[in-house]
Amino acid sequence: MSVVKIGIFGGTFNPPHLGHLAAARTAIGALELDKLLIIPAAIPPHKALPEGTPAPEHRLAMAAKLADALLLPEKVEVSTIELERPGKSYTSDTLVRLRDGDPDIEFWLLMGTDMFLTLHHWHDPEHILKNATVCTFSRHYWDKKEQILSQKNYLKKTYPWVKIEAIDIPDLVEISSTELRELLAEGKGAEYLHPSVYGYILMNRLYGTCADLKHLDIPELRACSYSMVMEKRVRHIRGTEEEAVRLARRWGADENLARRAGILHDCTKYLPGPEHIAICEQYGVPLDGLERTAPKLLHSKTGACMARHIFGEPDEVYEAIFWHTTAKADMTTLEKILYVADYMEPNRAFDGVERLRELAYQDLDRALLLGVETTVQEMEDRQLPVHQNTLQALAWLREHGVTTEG
Ligand code: ATP
Ligand code: MG
Repeated sequence: MSVVKIGIFGGTFNPPHLGHLAAARTAIGALELDKLLIIPAAIPPHKALPEGTPAPEHRLAMAAKLADALLLPEKVEVSTIELERPGKSYTSDTLVRLRDGDPDIEFWLLMGTDMFLTLHHWHDPEHILKNATVCTFSRHYWDKKEQILSQKNYLKKTYPWVKIEAIDIPDLVEISSTELRELLAEGKGAEYLHPSVYGYILMNRLYGTCADLKHLDIPELRACSYSMVMEKRVRHIRGTEEEAVRLARRWGADENLARRAGILHDCTKYLPGPEHIAICEQYGVPLDGLERTAPKLLHSKTGACMARHIFGEPDEVYEAIFWHTTAKADMTTLEKILYVADYMEPNRAFDGVERLRELAYQDLDRALLLGVETTVQEMEDRQLPVHQNTLQALAWLREHGVTTEG
């Protein structure tokens, strides 16, 4: 049986920042890891959690966003092993539990210089160093190489079997969570956070942030939207935002509203079915039988609710998001723009997308019709029911002389 290389990246991740992300990304590549476990500590042995530290669920959720940001779902996981264990989070205990008697696992313990320099003071270093190879990296460009070397020599002398590898992070981000917490409390620090983590912090008002969610600037609105979805969807959301703005410019619609609708249009895409239903009930959105069973239809309704009730967006944005999946008869320009942008943004690839892109800038109604026809065809091919609003959109456009021919 071949050896499995598992990286262990422990920390308090309070909050996880771009320095952590750069370290994790570099280690996965440099060490050719099969797996990386990001492990938030419950009670770190070497420091007290500062006052105002978010609940463990929040730190876990943010660590999960850090993991998702790496876009390697089959490799990167967040482990709750330490959060679930009572008492101090000793790495030696974690290693025993994770190994679970399996001799074919090769553990790589990832740590910045600060942790590496104190390694001999950790709980049971002998056990740790027998069970894992150490991989250390600088956190600052000014980290002293001699200090790292002398610690390496000391550990080698004390524990002759120890295996240590030092790697360089090419895109080092010189920040600590401690510094970041201070910045966040002053309304700064976004540049050190992955957008989805930043959005999570804003939406949950962590670390003294007090953003008014109903009046967010564009970068904050993006961050909040991205914090609600999987990282893999962000490219599409970004593409839709940009396409919607271009179309708004072309067709004389409000670019800012098009942008905000684009940013938020898919924000509830990953909510579980019951949550969609609960949101619709909460905000009085009636649902028909088909919608109740189709999350794809539900996300436009609940996305619209979030836009209006959480982010304070005006009716135009609400309506554009509300109709972006089914379309309907007699749509406004902004509604058409979001529908078409979502269909043909630069990341979309399907037979006929080029024709749709061409039409979108020649005649918005014809592009809309092509989109609606494509949807109806696809649903029929897959023997799925077509929503009545989509059929009404089709009928309305045809009655008004719109055609995709020619
Ligand atoms: P705090 O200031 O609260 O201690 P931190 O920024 O040091 O936070 P931790 O959660 O303590 O973050 O660290 C987890 C791991 O990430 C440690 O091994 C640490 O050395 C490493 N690390 C932290 N910040 C960076 C960074 N900017 N670049 C590289 N590694 C980092
Ligand atoms: Mg630290």
